[in-house]
Amino acid sequence: LVQLALPLNFLGMVYREIKQALTDMEAMFALLDTPPEVIDRPQAKALPPGPGALAFKGVGFSYNPERRILSDVDFSVPAGHKVALVGPSGAGKSTIARLLFRFYDVTEGAITLDGHDLRQLSQDSLRAAIGVVPQDTVLFNDTIGYNIAYGRPSASRAEVEEAARLAAIHPFIESLPEGYETLVGERGLKLSGGEKQRVAIARTILKQPRILIFDEATSALDTHTEQEIQQALAGVARGRTTLVIAHRLSTVIDADQILVMERGRIVERGRHGELLDRGGAYAAMWQRQQEARRLADELAEVGGPV
Ligand code: ADP
Ligand code: MG
Repeated sequence: LVQLALPLNFLGMVYREIKQALTDMEAMFALLDTPPEVIDRPQAKALPPGPGALAFKGVGFSYNPERRILSDVDFSVPAGHKVALVGPSGAGKSTIARLLFRFYDVTEGAITLDGHDLRQLSQDSLRAAIGVVPQDTVLFNDTIGYNIAYGRPSASRAEVEEAARLAAIHPFIESLPEGYETLVGERGLKLSGGEKQRVAIARTILKQPRILIFDEATSALDTHTEQEIQQALAGVARGRTTLVIAHRLSTVIDADQILVMERGRIVERGRHGELLDRGGAYAAMWQRQQEARRLADELAEVGGPV
């Protein structure tokens, strides 16, 4: 029996690993929507430890030669700072995140992390240093505890719970009859968008990446959930270099630098107040969002108590 159990156990492990790899890829594709094309150089080196300073230097990029997507993208993010990318759909915001994750290499210029050109680094070491909280988190068909621990499989149960607490999802998990052992995913408990995002945040807290990329959900979360998520994110982003792809400008007010993108170029940059004073593209976007909010409030009042 022991002889049979061992290989079965081993097979189970292999199966779990393959399943993990597949779901991981799936998660990446959901976020980044691209096949991996980049191959490590023969002399690729592991990213040495560092504080997490990021720079895009004259970056140009096209997915295919006929169409240029990014031109002259130039910015730097000191370690621990938060930079926000805003602008209309198709402007190139997610492309910047894909290049940083090195799903593609730049066509012109360079991207550096702590002074190292990304092209000289092994992809494994680069990706280990970057945590991504995607718009849509794909959960593994496993327990909710496993789904959080995935950020750092060696984490202890206490560390998993601490991460869940910081991500404001611990009380919810405790309220489930099977707690951390609750099965989630396709065949288990269906989590709401906000709950899934909190699982992703807890995972990222465990991973403790040098760089954090947050692709804000476009779908409307209710205000309460949104505030909770913003708080959880602020916790994980504290002291970490953070890149936020923002749809709601209310989430970029505190950014150290806001980059306004249009058609693959940075057309404005600065802090929230500076950009409002400037009265340009950002100020117009802000006006539109304020107006939309006012209208929504008025509609809610009109349609309110029946
Ligand atoms: P944003 O995130 O600002 O909405 P993206 O970075 O996703 O914009 O896209 C920028 C431009 O690149 C768009 O015109 C989009 O159609 C194009 N694009 C995105 N992904 C690909 C791809 N894999 N192949 C070719 N073009 C792409
Ligand atoms: Mg996008």
